Amino acid sequence: MKSERAADIERMLADIRREAAYTSDYIKLAAFSPRVMAAMASVPRHRFVPAELQEYAYDNGPLPIGHGQTISQPYIVALMSELLQLNEGATVLEIGTGSGYQTAVLSCLARQVYSIEIVEALGQLARSRLQQLGFHNIETRIDDGYLGWAQHAPYDGIIVTAAAPYVPPPLLEQLKTGARLVIPVGGRLTGQQLMVLEKNHAGEIRETQVLPVAFVPLTRRSARTHTTNESA
Ligand code: SAH
Repeated sequence: MKSERAADIERMLADIRREAAYTSDYIKLAAFSPRVMAAMASVPRHRFVPAELQEYAYDNGPLPIGHGQTISQPYIVALMSELLQLNEGATVLEIGTGSGYQTAVLSCLARQVYSIEIVEALGQLARSRLQQLGFHNIETRIDDGYLGWAQHAPYDGIIVTAAAPYVPPPLLEQLKTGARLVIPVGGRLTGQQLMVLEKNHAGEIRETQVLPVAFVPLTRRSARTHTTNESA
């Protein structure tokens, strides 16, 4: 059983390497760093995939996780992790915990990970799963991540794993100088682009388009919910 899984992980890593090579003109990299590949090798993806889809857990594709959401494709998780350029001491914010898989990969690459999920059932499941797996440098929260998490800002990197029609201004504000925001931008009609936004030392933002992608949309808490919260 154990060796089967090791073979599955090897196959997944080979698929990621192959796709990185195919897309090298877009991503301006010939390969992902050993650090990111080691993180991908160490997180047990099958623990983040629903029971009935276990046989596909190490395939290089997204999979449904319920509530109309998906666990991202391994290549995309590796790419976004790479684009963040995190070092061991980094504090990182993730919007869209989903299954918690990308969160776990980030926890291997940073000192502390904060992650926000808007769907309560998904956020709770991811939290207990990450605890069971022994990830201790992750804090999760159920909320609308559009507003970021001001309490722990500024961040050495911010990653959004759902597509926004435009870059949420609060996230740019919560980025350190020299840090990067990695986010899919666009809608159903325009198509989405994975973007990197880097804040330079003058506080200016430099934008780079990386690759066409297909993410689930970033949703917002309705105005009504906000009113209720404010009057409560
Ligand atoms: N990284 C996750 C991807 C999950 S899909 C994984 O690999 O499992 C994107 C997630 O973003 C979904 O779970 C969705 O519910 C969540 N999401 C959408 N809009 C959000 C928002 N405004 N704030 C926080 N999470 C959001």
